[in-house]
Amino acid sequence: MDQCSDGQLYTIQAAILCKRGGPLNIESVEMEGPRDDEVLVRLVASGICRTDIDFCDNWDETDGAVVLGHEGAGVIERIGKRVRGVKPGDHVVLSYQSCGHCRQCRSGRPAHCTRFYELNFGFQRLDGSDGLQRSSVRGHFFGQSSFATRSLATERNLVKVSKNLPLDLLAPLGCGLQAGVGTVMNSLKVSRRESIAVFGTGAVGLAAVMASRLVGADPIIGVDIKPGRLKLGLKLGATHAIDNRRQNMASRITDITGRGVDCVVETTGNPEMHQLAIDVLNRMASWRSSLEKGARIHCQRDGEPSASFRVTRCRRFSYLN
Ligand SMILES: [Zn+2]
Ligand SMILES: [Zn+2]
Repeated sequence: MDQCSDGQLYTIQAAILCKRGGPLNIESVEMEGPRDDEVLVRLVASGICRTDIDFCDNWDETDGAVVLGHEGAGVIERIGKRVRGVKPGDHVVLSYQSCGHCRQCRSGRPAHCTRFYELNFGFQRLDGSDGLQRSSVRGHFFGQSSFATRSLATERNLVKVSKNLPLDLLAPLGCGLQAGVGTVMNSLKVSRRESIAVFGTGAVGLAAVMASRLVGADPIIGVDIKPGRLKLGLKLGATHAIDNRRQNMASRITDITGRGVDCVVETTGNPEMHQLAIDVLNRMASWRSSLEKGARIHCQRDGEPSASFRVTRCRRFSYLN
């Protein structure tokens, strides 16, 4: 088993969630030093993602006190004996955790790690230990618990970045922004001149809009119920914006593309929008014949790994990932 190298303890400050809905209390807690495969990161910044807020709002107090945060960025202070790829002083951005051993991890798909849930939402290491256990607090949220001054991570859930880049701007790349960009570039593999609709233009959706612009998709249709977000979407690369409280989205999309879109990124988590996402894919004469073979859809639900599907026949899907 990987053990703490020298038993050293660190006193850190952490924002602790003790009761449903918060507030988060800033307190001093004791944290172990890094184990052989871990790194100790001094956090400079952390994004706040919707998943943090949902955990806060729905936390079951009988599960004890926890430290949230999963978009951390900072500087490595110490490394475990088996860590080779980074060194103290390196600047890093933290992301989700994976096991590194399962079939999905070995085939280069850590986002589909078979132990994803335990590692990211288990508030402990896989062996059941917790670097904050001496203070009766649970950490390791997404393998980092970044709402703190220091964090334990591993090489698998960090990316080394240039020291010239501002860490406070890079922090949200670890979850929301990479989710939107990765969906467009890696899961859907949207190509030049393909049409795309992005449902929900929050952080993930806007990242998908920017990535769509980068790969040359056209048209890029942002859909939301908040005019301010739609306006920002147009500024960041959307060619069209639809307020689906005021307009019939499906017919507007048909007007714009002539036959429905090639790809949809669905970020709202709303089952009705999932259905609509399917409806607007390459829409033809009727719903039953509306799905062309090869059309692609990508859905993300709060707190769950996202899923991509490729339409193989009308109303039937297969996983892309
Ligand atoms: Zn997140
Ligand atoms: Zn794995």
